[in-house]
Amino acid sequence: MNKNIKKINIGVIGVGHLGEHHVKHLKSINNFKLIGIYDIDEKRAISIGKKYHVPLYKNIDELIEASDAISLVTPTETHFDIAYSCIKAKKHIFIEKPIAKSVNDAEKLIQLGIKRKVIIQVGHIERFNPALIPLNNYKLKPKYIEIQRLAPYNIRGTDVPVVLDKMIHDLDILLFLVNSDIEKVYANGISILTDSIDIANSRIRFKNGTIANVTSSRVAQGDVRKIKIFQQDLYVTIDLLIGLTEVYRVIDKKEKYINSIQDVDFDYRGKKKHIIYEKPELLSFDALKAELENFSESIYGDSTPMVDGVAAKNALELAITIDQMIREDLH
Ligand code: NAD
Repeated sequence: MNKNIKKINIGVIGVGHLGEHHVKHLKSINNFKLIGIYDIDEKRAISIGKKYHVPLYKNIDELIEASDAISLVTPTETHFDIAYSCIKAKKHIFIEKPIAKSVNDAEKLIQLGIKRKVIIQVGHIERFNPALIPLNNYKLKPKYIEIQRLAPYNIRGTDVPVVLDKMIHDLDILLFLVNSDIEKVYANGISILTDSIDIANSRIRFKNGTIANVTSSRVAQGDVRKIKIFQQDLYVTIDLLIGLTEVYRVIDKKEKYINSIQDVDFDYRGKKKHIIYEKPELLSFDALKAELENFSESIYGDSTPMVDGVAAKNALELAITIDQMIREDLH
């Protein structure tokens, strides 16, 4: 932080499961001064206030008024109204994902944000997963991407279909990786434990030719969060859960290389080729803290949000398309 710049007064609205983590990290980030918290569940607010020595606000508008920025960590259905009030009052806002319930609401927030000149960042935390960082070292032009996100059933998050709760993380990553318009979406899914879709699969074809196959489930034996990227002469496999990125790369036989474990030679169209294996060393950091730091730097104008309102709206739009397609298919 530039020492001449004053700290950002921030408030947290919604201090449930994830909100508590926001409180913890905001207290440790130098750019922020956590000035207070608000939750409609007063008992919860009191307990978090006591645990982290943070002032409680009994009135949400007073907290918004006193803040320069807000971290909004309430259930999705409440995001639009609260975020709208914050942006209207010219407060920067970090909104937990998904940005809103509808694309229309997301668009309204984005437009108001432009008018009021505030930063809108959305909590698609997986973009800050350290296992994705090594991708910056490779020229990506994916032909096929396979993504799997499976989790045991947990009542938290079931207020929305699995596509909006879990798959949306991968859709955001996918749109970022492919950076092309979508040509066609196919989707199937089923309900198992809730009235909404619990297991979903989508095949997405992009205009640049990339094909993605994305599966999400909240009825699984254990957690799985994996991405596989295939392109000409490159295969990357990423385990977001355990933090492991492995790369298989084809190089000309003459090319020098280091750290290779794999040693496979083959001929491709008359050329001698060699497959090498790389396991980039991953940085170790907390993804939630990193995204909140990105928020503070964006407010100072030293950076831009890794996931802004538009990126979050695009992920939401694709998620809603997939969910609707599945539901229509089932009727
Ligand atoms: P939670 O139910 O544990 O906490 C939500 C809190 O918001 C509760 O304490 C509740 O009392 C409070 N609340 C509800 N309505 C409110 C209102 N109108 N004003 C103030 N407080 C209100 O839920 P959670 O698991 O912490 O999820 C919160 C948000 O975070 C959701 O949008 C969810 O999708 C998102 N989330 C994101 C991730 C991620 O990976 N980025 C993970 C989990 C949850």
